[in-house]
Amino acid sequence: MPVTATSALRATANLVNLSTPLGLLIALAGRARLSGGPDGLVLAEHYRPGVPKAGAFTVGNVIIVPGRRLDELEQQRPGTTAHEAVHAWQWCYCLGLPFLVGYGLASAWSWLRTGHPASANFFESSAGLTRGGYPELPRNNAGLRRIRSALRGAK
Ligand SMILES: [Zn+2]
Repeated sequence: MPVTATSALRATANLVNLSTPLGLLIALAGRARLSGGPDGLVLAEHYRPGVPKAGAFTVGNVIIVPGRRLDELEQQRPGTTAHEAVHAWQWCYCLGLPFLVGYGLASAWSWLRTGHPASANFFESSAGLTRGGYPELPRNNAGLRRIRSALRGAK
């Protein structure tokens, strides 16, 4: 697939904001196999550590796939590549590492609202919950209620 002007912009921004170098370090530390992906993205497949528990995760322009190839995951869950490509844009919009802070806060908020770190997470819903392999749960304050009942139980 040819690299368009916008994906070249994303690749450059994520290189300069250091998120792609961070992704490459994580990929190398996890002994992943690197190759060129679509739209200027880098594939880091067969990543070895069992953490995080995710089908794939993206750091800067690097799509990291634990234990297998991206096309195998794509076959099982169509839309995975497109989902991860949105995360690469989010790293770009967040100017790199601030993405981690935003993502952490969004995960905490989602957990409080739904009891799941992705279901009401702005970054995951923007990238598409279903194609990211996440459930769409009701916003019923499930996490908040769990904290409340744990506090009641502690008294
Ligand atoms: Zn995602």
